Amino acid sequence: MIYNTFSIPATADRYLVISQKQELLDIIEQGTLQNSPFFILGGGSNIVFTDHYHGTILHLENKGINLLSENPETGDILIQAAAGENWDTFVQYCIANHWHGAENLTAIPGTVGASPVQNVGAYGVEAKDIIHSVQAIDTTTGQERTFLNDECQFGYRSSIFKKKYGNQYVVWSVTFRLQSTYKPDIRYKALSEALTTAGIDNPTPRQLSDTIATLRWSKLPRPEETGSAGSFFKNPIVTTDHYNQLKSCYPDIVAYPVPDGFKLAAGWLIEHAGWKGRSLGRCGVYHKQALVLVNLGGCTGNEVVALADAITADVQKLFGVTLEKEAIII
Ligand SMILES: Cc1cc2nc3c(=O)[nH]c(=O)nc-3n(C[C@H](O)[C@H](O)[C@H](O)COP(=O)(O)OP(=O)(O)OC[C@H]3O[C@@H](n4cnc5c(N)ncnc54)[C@H](O)[C@@H]3O)c2cc1C
Repeated sequence: MIYNTFSIPATADRYLVISQKQELLDIIEQGTLQNSPFFILGGGSNIVFTDHYHGTILHLENKGINLLSENPETGDILIQAAAGENWDTFVQYCIANHWHGAENLTAIPGTVGASPVQNVGAYGVEAKDIIHSVQAIDTTTGQERTFLNDECQFGYRSSIFKKKYGNQYVVWSVTFRLQSTYKPDIRYKALSEALTTAGIDNPTPRQLSDTIATLRWSKLPRPEETGSAGSFFKNPIVTTDHYNQLKSCYPDIVAYPVPDGFKLAAGWLIEHAGWKGRSLGRCGVYHKQALVLVNLGGCTGNEVVALADAITADVQKLFGVTLEKEAIII
């Protein structure tokens, strides 16, 4: 069985499936995690294995989605989902139960547990917009700790769990604040255009979710068909001066203003560095979206890294912009 969406075979010294909290607490108590490296694995949809993993893989498989409370005055609904739940199963469950707010995050691969770690986002919404709190277990002590939303230090595909704590905390469950009143968020340009094209003015939650799924898979490779880790690079942020210089040379450059400058579309930079559709070894740049690196068949993690490095060097040389990997290399 291959537990990563890049479909790269990998092995580890130990592979432990955790479905009960006590199993995790026993592993911590035995000192297994103190004596050698370990990696917390969800759905493996944002990682690239380059070698045998000399340590323990903790694969979260705990399940459960529970309604905690419903406030008829504010319309707030608190739902707790276990880390091992598939993310899209959770989103679809919410839609079926008329709990609103997660629709735009339809069909993101991976698990509920990774959603706060990565602060997943799509079509104008990020996990941070709907997370109330995160229940986590400290792997150094076995103690449970709840992080409220504003303690999670959410950023662009990042959080306190990724930055400050590395993998010190296992996210055990996540509590989401959803709404009983449905207010579709269709501000994202490509989404509003897709709805208009489909002749839908006021999408129902089902229509919104379906439109997003169709849009997503028209641009990204489906993991069951083509191996990838989704967007391989982050969209880089540059100063306003740097952006203005680039804009004068490349008037059609795609960028969005952000508080500390401009966020550039990494896909545009990679495409204009000539990499769209090209390959190195058995790893390629997806022909529909240059931000995605794909397994062309039998590709190794080192081939992925070699292609990523070649792209990064060309983008640096041409635009003076340093690309940062979104995918995690192990
Ligand atoms: C085709 C495709 C499309 C994608 N589209 C998007 C998108 O639109 N938006 C987006 O944001 N991402 C996207 N991604 C990336 C990916 O779906 C997300 O990063 C997702 O959150 C990863 O979840 P996972 O369970 O697979 O995590 P993994 O890949 O298994 O792990 C990712 C990181 O999270 C940590 N982690 C996982 N579970 C836990 C836990 N329970 N406790 C603590 N740490 C944990 C891991 O240690 C690792 O650091 C896409 C990926 C693919 C393959």
